[in-house]
Amino acid sequence: MTKIQMATPLVEMDGDEMTRILWQLIKDELLIPYIDLKTEYYDLGLAYRNETDDQVTVDSAEATKKYGVAVKCATITPNAARMTEYNLKEMWKSPNGTIRAALDGTVFRTPIQVKGIEPCVKNWKAPITLARHAYGDVYKNTEIKVPGKGKAELVFTAEDGTEIRETIHEFDGPGILQGIHNTDQSISSFARACFNYALDRKQDLWFATKDTISKKYDHNFKDIFQDIYDAEYKEKFEAAGIEYFYTLIDDAVARVMKAEGGFIWACKNYDGDVMSDMVSSACGSLAMMTSVLVSPSGVYEYEAAHGTVQRHYYKHLKGEETSTNSVATIFAWTGALRKRGELDDNKELQQFAEKLERATLKTIEDGKMTKDLALITSLDKVTVLNSQDFIRAVRDTLESL
Ligand code: NAP
Ligand code: MG
Repeated sequence: MTKIQMATPLVEMDGDEMTRILWQLIKDELLIPYIDLKTEYYDLGLAYRNETDDQVTVDSAEATKKYGVAVKCATITPNAARMTEYNLKEMWKSPNGTIRAALDGTVFRTPIQVKGIEPCVKNWKAPITLARHAYGDVYKNTEIKVPGKGKAELVFTAEDGTEIRETIHEFDGPGILQGIHNTDQSISSFARACFNYALDRKQDLWFATKDTISKKYDHNFKDIFQDIYDAEYKEKFEAAGIEYFYTLIDDAVARVMKAEGGFIWACKNYDGDVMSDMVSSACGSLAMMTSVLVSPSGVYEYEAAHGTVQRHYYKHLKGEETSTNSVATIFAWTGALRKRGELDDNKELQQFAEKLERATLKTIEDGKMTKDLALITSLDKVTVLNSQDFIRAVRDTLESL
């Protein structure tokens, strides 16, 4: 059998723990036998990040800008315990944070829906994609614990020294204060990433803030989205037969619960943090959620939404059997391969990505799945497979399609 050829390499970012084990299995069983896999490999495993003073993460982000498409394995974000475990020189930053900052991207997360794993919101027929603004607001805040009586002011000093000054509150006693910000540039990038993604997926785009209460801050988000939509996207949306729709965040939540799904829901940073956990848990499992970082310049980085599944890895190290779900990691690969295929006009590669996704879903629908899904499925006859055997079962299905 001749393997599918690739014109341009994918940027491959390897990772840590159980997902690193799955990564190799997926490549060996589901990709290399069928594709003449061209990747530029970066080892983002914590040991090598430490060895290179995290330069490897920066290099992988630069390579992603160069080639346009990356696929990333889950990685450890170091904390105190990891400092000792891996004997780290420094508490290196989250690789995802570094890559996100380099690509100035927006994160899109979509549940993988499959027969037998029904969302607990019964009317959700198609997946809802959450687009989260990944910069600013409460995530880059300045806080003060007010000790007692006094006046709090918001002051902006321009370069030429002129001031804008507003009273926040005259405190009679102790309290709390918080300063947050965002920039027009970041909001514009977020808006463009969302509009481009909606066009790419041919799905409606919803956006919501609390502009009735936050008349300047949230209103600025609404205005920037609307201005960019009118100037750059209105005609393209009409041609694609899709809609851009703005509403208040509480109204959006109410509508989402009654909707059929199949749209993109753009959220401010905090709303996106909270709502993506709601959408993913309503759809069954974090192991069934894909994630893609899209930069305003049209660069894509695909990954699974879950972490390195540390608990399973420790079992694996003790020689015990694991049943770790590889679906989101398989879909990170298919997402990246499909996008590479689109950019290179490589039909074979796109078709293979489709086929591998179908094979993965069919395997589950045929009742063969990992333990996490077996616990929540509505199917009767279920075979619980270990990590390796699930991937092998997907290969068998792939061969049969
Ligand atoms: P996690 O790896 O997502 O796992 C949390 C729990 O969720 C697991 O113990 C497991 O539950 C379940 N789970 C997650 N993915 C699963 C899968 N594919 N198959 C089956 N069960 C799955 O989160 P964590 O344990 O909090 O974090 C571990 C490491 O991952 C941390 O070092 C963190 O920094 C890193 N992390 C990385 C990323 C990323 O790279 N994008 C994201 C999040 C976390 P049971 O144990 O009950 O089976
Ligand atoms: Mg969160």
